[in-house]
Amino acid sequence: MEKMLIKFDDGTPINLEQMLLAKEKRVENQKQAMICYKHPIISLSLVIPGAIKNSSGARYLFDEAIKALQHCFLQNDITIINEDHYHYITGSEAIIAVKCSAKTLKKYCMDIENNHPLGRLWDIDVIDIVTQQSLSRSQFDNQPRQCLVCHEAAKVCGRAKRHSINEIFIAIEKKIEKFQQI
Ligand SMILES: [Zn+2]
Repeated sequence: MEKMLIKFDDGTPINLEQMLLAKEKRVENQKQAMICYKHPIISLSLVIPGAIKNSSGARYLFDEAIKALQHCFLQNDITIINEDHYHYITGSEAIIAVKCSAKTLKKYCMDIENNHPLGRLWDIDVIDIVTQQSLSRSQFDNQPRQCLVCHEAAKVCGRAKRHSINEIFIAIEKKIEKFQQI
């Protein structure tokens, strides 16, 4: 495969207010999908540091996440009921309703997050139709997510602002490079 140029700075920066509104919109889209399709929902978003969320690199990560999910559905005989992609200035997202129990689905999604070479760059939430809540990793004895740069838990480094954005992007680019060599 020819190595493609991945850029994370060729988008539009957003501010905190836009980010918060995007979160609200995501919750709204999730609710709508649950009302319409009455099945567990996968809500995909990307782990991109900094103010630019709609770069070509982000789009690349999104497309690879969709490929990984579709591969998983195919392998496990999971029927997609509806799939919506949103490409906002605040980032690319997907909401997918599928025929599968939320618990089983969460296991598959955690497996992708933990084992796909790009999985750490994806947030694949699973929302139960009954509780209308995201299933948490800890419910499944899963470790909290690791920092992109070091071996600490992501939350610890995030809170301490331990790494510069530049350092985090170098770690992200390394992951992509590794993935493209497979
Ligand atoms: Zn760290």
